[in-house]
Amino acid sequence: MPRYEYRCRECAAVFELSRPMAESGAPANCPEGHEDTVKLLSAVAVGGSAAGAPAPAAASGGGGGCCGGGCCG
Ligand SMILES: [Zn+2]
Repeated sequence: MPRYEYRCRECAAVFELSRPMAESGAPANCPEGHEDTVKLLSAVAVGGSAAGAPAPAAASGGGGGCCGGGCCG
């Protein structure tokens, strides 16, 4: 049985459900019980994704920052 990813628009939780393909578009409640969820596309990338593209992780903070190099005083 295929697995589908969903994201809750109320609490931003991402969860997976195993369900028949025929039910892939059926509403899915998030683990918190919210009903406002959207089905995420699987990892099969077909062109650019419009909304919900993850922002690149900022590699700032921790270690070599300003306050670690002595420039803060
Ligand atoms: Zn939720």
